[in-house]
Amino acid sequence: MPVSGAVQDLAEGILAGRVPAVARAITWAESGDPRFQALLALVFPRTGGARVTGLTGSPGAGKSTLTAALARKARILGRKVGIVAVDPSSPFSGGAILGDRIRMQDLYTDPGVLIRSMATRGHLGGLARATADAVDVLDAAGYDEILVETVGVGQDEVEVFRLAESCVVVLTPGMGDDIQAIKAGLMEVADLFVVNKADRDGADRVVQEILQMLELGDHGAWLPPVVKTVATTGAGLDELASKLAEHRAFLDGPQGAQRKRERTKKRIESLVKENFLRKVESLRGDRGALEKAAAHVEARLEDPMSAARTLIGALEEDGGPPSLYSPFEKSPVPKSLDPKPKDLVTRVSHLGIAVKSLAEGGAFWDLLGLIEEHREEVASQKVVTSFRAVGESHLELLESTSSDGPIAKALEKRGPGIHHLCLEVGDIDAVLAMLKAAGVKLINETPFAGAGGCRVAFVHPASTGGILLELSEKSGS
Ligand code: ZN
Repeated sequence: MPVSGAVQDLAEGILAGRVPAVARAITWAESGDPRFQALLALVFPRTGGARVTGLTGSPGAGKSTLTAALARKARILGRKVGIVAVDPSSPFSGGAILGDRIRMQDLYTDPGVLIRSMATRGHLGGLARATADAVDVLDAAGYDEILVETVGVGQDEVEVFRLAESCVVVLTPGMGDDIQAIKAGLMEVADLFVVNKADRDGADRVVQEILQMLELGDHGAWLPPVVKTVATTGAGLDELASKLAEHRAFLDGPQGAQRKRERTKKRIESLVKENFLRKVESLRGDRGALEKAAAHVEARLEDPMSAARTLIGALEEDGGPPSLYSPFEKSPVPKSLDPKPKDLVTRVSHLGIAVKSLAEGGAFWDLLGLIEEHREEVASQKVVTSFRAVGESHLELLESTSSDGPIAKALEKRGPGIHHLCLEVGDIDAVLAMLKAAGVKLINETPFAGAGGCRVAFVHPASTGGILLELSEKSGS
């Protein structure tokens, strides 16, 4: 893919750690800007340095306060911090009460901290993808610690959370229902449990419930620790930081490598799925291939499995929306064809334009210097033609000589305008035979004499996608 100057500039801005460049790139990722792919390709080699921690929990669990506390700890060590809030109720998204935001003021004014909230709706291609892209941009821009704050509900949010290297689930006493939700969605993803607001009654019971759950679950080589914190006073934060450090050390070991690989695979896999689903969506539409397939199936011309197989085949072959059930049952150009496909069509011969009179219709083209080169009557078509060279091709103005000729009929039906496209072919007999074999609707199955002594034949618009097509073989060839 050619890289435009704008993309190159933005990539340089990101790598230099310039905040406006980072912000713009994340906006591209969020909106599904097609330039983002080229941008990511440029900056991705510079990623991999950041530590990415996800924090999830219900609104009110205090994960924003914990996020802020972890950010401050990293700042004391001189590390740059990126905070990505994927929770509309987070103070980092501007959704919380003013008091919460004021408590985060020091982070907002710290040039070593970049805070970005992600819109949780309206992403082209998924929140998880956009968030992963945002994390990569921050990573490439030199942010050492990236904290991703999400609400722990919904499939999208779990997917976002899963992308982090270390996933922290935040719970509080008195939220019994949450434990059930976590069993359902977050159990395999969690690397660390935090029971926040641990100065409240019932904190130990929550800890016990988590430990019981962990005993039953399959957690692999890493047993998620459970840490009690009171984020507002700072109690337990040192322990949280040290457990996070342990987890990072684990990830850097052999078992962590396997886990990292799983997450990378998951990310690629979801992109593949996303792309394929988008293609499947392209089958829809009033005249879409899906509609036609359904008609075939309802008419009992085909069974649903065969129809699905045909659609899948078409998606895989050309990578785009398939044009199925065209006049061509198979490939329009049989592989064994002689002459070879590349020799079939040699150039655009001319564009035919129906005019009321050559004098009137020609005046405009004269202005452009496309002066008449050749005028000829073609009796069989009941027209006079006026040829005007445009480089190697021509314009062909067509004036009817009779009220019952094809051009007279076209003028009556549609008025003046483009009438047909003419392609020059090497061997018109071979091309017509091939098209006929492929089921194309031909107006003339055998060539006749056209202007300039060429042998010509017309193909019906029903087969060409709406264009009256003239095929022409040069005289003497
Ligand atoms: Zn023509």
